[in-house]
Parts: sequence; C-alpha cells; structure tokens
Amino acid sequence: MKGDHTTGGKPHIQLVIRRALEGTPKIELTAKFPCNGNFKVQLPVWRPGRYELGNFGRYIYGVQGLNVSGIWEKLHKADLHQWQVPADVNTIRWTFFADLFNAGSTGAAEDILYINPVNCFLYHPNHSDWGYSIDLVDVPNDWPVATGLPRVNGMLYARDVQQAMDSPILAAASLTHTEYESNGIPFHIWVYGKDQPDVKSFKRDHLAFTESQIAHFGTFPAEHYHFMYVLPEREVRHGVEHEDTTVIALGPSAKSQTQAGYDELIGIASHELYHAWNVKRIRPAEWMPYDFSRACPSRMGYVAEGVTTYMGDLFLFESGVVDLKGWCRLMERLLDRHVNNPGRLNSSVADSGYDTWLDGYEPGVPGRKGSIYVEGAVLAFLCDVRIMQLTGSEASLQTAMRMLWEQFGVERIGLIESDYWSVLNEVAGATDAMEDLRLNYADGTKESWDDLVAAMDWQGLALTKTIKDGRWHVSIAHS
Ligand SMILES: [Zn+2]
Repeated sequence: MKGDHTTGGKPHIQLVIRRALEGTPKIELTAKFPCNGNFKVQLPVWRPGRYELGNFGRYIYGVQGLNVSGIWEKLHKADLHQWQVPADVNTIRWTFFADLFNAGSTGAAEDILYINPVNCFLYHPNHSDWGYSIDLVDVPNDWPVATGLPRVNGMLYARDVQQAMDSPILAAASLTHTEYESNGIPFHIWVYGKDQPDVKSFKRDHLAFTESQIAHFGTFPAEHYHFMYVLPEREVRHGVEHEDTTVIALGPSAKSQTQAGYDELIGIASHELYHAWNVKRIRPAEWMPYDFSRACPSRMGYVAEGVTTYMGDLFLFESGVVDLKGWCRLMERLLDRHVNNPGRLNSSVADSGYDTWLDGYEPGVPGRKGSIYVEGAVLAFLCDVRIMQLTGSEASLQTAMRMLWEQFGVERIGLIESDYWSVLNEVAGATDAMEDLRLNYADGTKESWDDLVAAMDWQGLALTKTIKDGRWHVSIAHS
C-alpha cells in the first residue's frame, strides 16, 4: 500500500535491537508491547521455507520483563515457546544466539547484523494485526541496510506479524548493491562477503531469468524485490524465499568466483524468484496465512518445492542462462538422486511432504521416504511433458501455474490438492488427463523409469542409466 510506510498510528510493538558481541555473538531485543501486562508472548516454532519444527527457543538465553518499579525480572515459560508476562510488565527483553549464517538464521559480528525475524521476534498470539517499529540502535548510520521493509528516518516498519516474520534484514558495513528493472519493478541485488561474483554477469543473468519468469506469469506479485546474498567464510549452501526478498547463502565466499559456485548461486536465485509466485502466493491452504505457533503439515510440498525446483532450472534454459546441454546436466543430477532413492517406492511424495515435519531435512531411516524437491520435480517434469503432448505444445505446466497464479495466488486463496489437479487437467484438455500421474507419482509409489524414458524421448533426448558399485548413474543425450 502506498503511503503506509509506518504503522500509521496503529498499535504496534516497539522493538529495539542491539548486538552483544562479547564472547558468543548474540543480539539483545527489547520490545514494548501496546498493552498492559498479564498476557503471553510467543516465539515462532518454524519458519516458512523449511517445513519442520525449528525450535528457535533453543537460541534464547533468557527473557526478562521490566516491572513498574523499574526492575528487570525473569519471565517464566507458559509453554516451550511461550512466556507469561505478569500484570505489571509490558516491556520485555531477551537475548538471542547470533552466530549462525545460513539463509534462514540470525547472525551478528563487528561488521554485520543479519536478522530473520521469524526465529527471534516475539509476538502476541492474539494480535497478529500488531506490526513492529524496529530500531537497529547500534547500526552506524552509514551502513547500508537491505530489507523489503519500509525504512523511514532509519527506522524499519512492519505492518503486521505476517510481514515482519517474512522480512529478513541485512545491515553491514560493506554491502555491494546493484539494481535492475524489469516490467517497471525495481530488483535489488545485495552482496555481503569477502569474495563476490562478477557484478556484470551476475546482473545480466538475474535480468534474463527475471524477464523470462515475469513474461510467463504475466505479472509480478510485489512492488520491489531484493536478492540478499550472504557469502560468509564458513561452509554453507542455502536459499530461503520471502514475499518480496530472498536470502541466499553460499560459503566460503571464494566459491562465488568459481564457475560451479557461480552456477549454484544463479540456480538458487532462479528457484527463489519462482517462489515469489509459487508458495508465497500460490500457497497450500495449510500455510495461508502462516500459523507460526504449531506444526502445519501439508501434502502439497511437491507443488511448493517440486514444481519450483523443476521450473527454476527450466527458466535458466528458457532465458538462455544455460544451454540445452546445461539443462540436461541439471536434470541428470536430479534424476541421479531420484533413481538412487528407494524411499520413493515406500512413501509417496505427498506423504513424504506431509512428513517433512518429522524428517524432511535429514537423511532419515534408510528407504523410508521421498523428497519433495527431487521426486516433486520429477513429477513436475512428467506433468509438463504430458500437458505438452496433449496440447500439441500449445500449453505446458507453466500455463497451469499461470492460471493458478491468476485464480488463487492473486487473491491469496489457499490451494488444495483437488484444485491443483483440476487446473492441470483443464490446461491439458480433459478431466482425467493427469489422473494416472497423480495416482502413480503424487499419491502412489510406482517405479517411474519407463515413463521418464518415454517423456525424455518425446523431447528428443535419450535417457539411460548404468550401475556402478551399487549406485545408478543417469545420462541424458541427444537421440
Ligand atoms: Zn524452494
């Protein structure tokens, strides 16, 4: 909303954040709530983009409240991630561990303050309408601050809990900034790190996949967009999507100077931008809006992450960032992981998606589950080819995704499985066009190899696999 650049006089939480760098790096957060005491404050238990319990309470050293006598008293827990605020307290102070530098964490050092509010901001469970004013009190005035939040006179403002939790903040003594425009939307690229990718090619490749994705969706969902790159000196490879930003972490930073590291960054970036439509707006009903206080399992991870993984790579090819050979290498890597995971034959990708909350981001017990990223992307590929086959290539999976954007995403109507498959069937031209794919590969655990070979063959590509030392190796060649 234009002009809505502060909390506009609405009740909001006044938050002051400072770094505490002696010993283990931490941040100290002080919040004045717009209500009198005797209420509870809640810390999110998960963060969108990672569909498991984050248990962020483990990073909190302690929570205190300022009472009417001007004394800080210890607050007691009402639940694992909830604290009770007594009647005579409305200002709360807590200390949070800040030595993690992945794409969804919070970290602080002499030259940086990097915050993902969803792991460290407390909120009032009955007041998701309360926004925040955020004062980064010890950040020097001359430090650049990258964030999707509006910034007025050095203060940041979030209009409500949903926006605050979805808006990472990156402030650093040195932050490279470059900007490009597509379809009238400003896109910002911010990079923190000792070594950084070549700016010229980085910007050119971002522009290419951005233009291509917007052309295929028709419109872009946000007024601006920020790519925030955190390139620390530690080992990391990670990206997280938000409403109008993404954070991408890759380290050590020198990796960004190698071709492989550069390709990784661009690959993650295309994936995360696709999320601006798919999952941030075309969103499973279970996550619309986000309930940060409990686990929210959904069977639709194969849409959220599978379609995004497949499309993120496909748009690299569509936009000329990679050639056909490059796309084949990306698909080989994906199919390698697919065929070598017997878990996909035990638990369907829909069931595996529901269970990410149990073991979706770790290997888990052998042979139990599939991956919403890998098996989801394989399913997306089979759906894409099916739609093209049935429509003489007049339509594709992207046609369906655009329709989902227009019918569900724009209006923020939560998506359910039957709606997703109805739209794909409609685009493919028959009510049962995708039924076998849904039964076999979304809800079922059928071996996919023959269908994959046929789909690749239809695209003029020969898919083969060989086994060596008990592991399959997949290869795709021009037939
Ligand atoms: Zn993703």
